[in-house]
Amino acid sequence: MLPNKQSKFATGAIQAATTKYSNISSSAYYWLFIAAKGTINKEKKVSDLLSLLNQWSQQGIEWIVFGRSPRIERTLLYKWKTKRLFSINIVSGTRRQIDKYCPNNLKFNSFLPAITQAEVEKSIICCFKEKQMDLSKNSTSSKATSFLKSLEILKNNVITVAPFITSWINISQKSRWGSLKKLSTIIADEIGYENRKIFSALRTIVVFALSPHIGGTVQKIIQSISAEKAVPLPFMRRKKGKIPIILLMKKDYVVLRPGNAKEMTELAKKYGKFNLGFTLKGFPRITGTLVFSPKILDYLRKGANIKVLLIQSGISPSYKIKVSVVLEGDSNLFLNTKCIKELLKSIQTKKTEILGLDINRLGEHMITFSNQIPIPPKLEKLVKRYLLITNKTIPELSFSLKSKSFSKKSSLYVKTKGELYRVYQRRKKLLKEIYNLSTHFIAAVIIKSKCEVLCIEDLNLDPRSKRGSLAKAIYNMPDDENIYYKASQLASKILKYPVQLISVNPQYTSTKHNECGGILKRHSGSYDFSVCDQCNKKVNTHHNAAKNIESRGRKIFESLELNTPFTHTRDIE
Ligand SMILES: [Zn+2]
Repeated sequence: MLPNKQSKFATGAIQAATTKYSNISSSAYYWLFIAAKGTINKEKKVSDLLSLLNQWSQQGIEWIVFGRSPRIERTLLYKWKTKRLFSINIVSGTRRQIDKYCPNNLKFNSFLPAITQAEVEKSIICCFKEKQMDLSKNSTSSKATSFLKSLEILKNNVITVAPFITSWINISQKSRWGSLKKLSTIIADEIGYENRKIFSALRTIVVFALSPHIGGTVQKIIQSISAEKAVPLPFMRRKKGKIPIILLMKKDYVVLRPGNAKEMTELAKKYGKFNLGFTLKGFPRITGTLVFSPKILDYLRKGANIKVLLIQSGISPSYKIKVSVVLEGDSNLFLNTKCIKELLKSIQTKKTEILGLDINRLGEHMITFSNQIPIPPKLEKLVKRYLLITNKTIPELSFSLKSKSFSKKSSLYVKTKGELYRVYQRRKKLLKEIYNLSTHFIAAVIIKSKCEVLCIEDLNLDPRSKRGSLAKAIYNMPDDENIYYKASQLASKILKYPVQLISVNPQYTSTKHNECGGILKRHSGSYDFSVCDQCNKKVNTHHNAAKNIESRGRKIFESLELNTPFTHTRDIE
């Protein structure tokens, strides 16, 4: 990060605002330091990405159009030695960050330059020829051969394939990546060719076809971006002169010395309370007794430790002093079983050894189990409120803000802006509640079914292509924060045996009919139901997906049991 005097963040402001409170300023500097370290690290990663994009022009186009590039993601992953999801996040996150530098015809996931079918046909043929020449000169790995094979099949079916690609390019798509992936299964179906490589072959063709139209612009965009431009600052000042709230927290005292924390934990555990003294110049020392609530004492006795005390003098009329206690400890300590017990009362099901679970966009099908237990009404209510805010309140407020933006100083504008900010905060809180309740609901279903194995889709295989914000939130969480993991831990604790998690390949779980193996055709407008092309049944796609996940998980589980060297004997009836 380059030092920048114009930057929206100045450490001088912290100094000025916290002169009287040295403990707050040291905590503010601590957070700032952590955040700055994170930003510097990210800038290094992003400059690795940019240098690759500068070298590989085709991948540059692919990245601008799709927001992703598997070849680049792989290369970075080997270089950084990280998880696959991490490199995908850097690649796709950077694409979204730089969207503001893209001209209107290259905004992410919107329209692309119009293209004729003849151009696409020509591209399919030329693309195959060029890659064939490349390959004959270079490698002959099996991967490369199978890629070339896919290109050849597409070339041989050019009359069928070209109209699909042409209309895909000319119509705007919500997700270029996801929709092309869907298109690839449709095309594979149409030409009777079952191969995963067809998706990358299609991407290559799209890049090839668009290259004469956008190649130059893409190159210019990539050259003009620097890592500093593509990584947001660690903290942004919202208004002139104000410091981000997280740095100051508006607390009067922050007690955070490590020695104190240990002593405080001991005292609280022993007596349930202790005295805190404050000195004030010119006054005798003020002492107060801090009495801990039974809930916090319970956590402490189970092994949690006090990390920080945040003390806030009250506001009028009562001036009651507020103390917040930040605890640390193993996440198991903080599991809340009360909520689960309540949920258990309303769930009806019989014992099911193996459960499949499918997570979808927020709504009545957001959590679908293979044993078809509906989500609790409380969760549905939270989701309805969340969706109302997203689909109505926020767009309305944004529109009203836009119409007032001709005078940014007017009180109406400022008021609407504040309102919008609060609505966003409310939505964030709601999502957190939804996430928590979902975890507890999943745990409750596991417990009520006395389930031993929970089967889920492998998050690493298909992280971005489908589904809504819930799935995205889950995909972006580290393993130990993950909803499945948390739920199975919770359930294991109550069931007193470890619930196993098995992840399965997510491909075709939503398109294969579980009962007969036929293909579920998507109908426009209906996301939840499909008709099977073989048995003609109308099928709930989410239940069907959960069942497919269960069947796949069961196969894996059975093969694991067979292969384990110390199989336990069973009674044969
Ligand atoms: Zn069927």
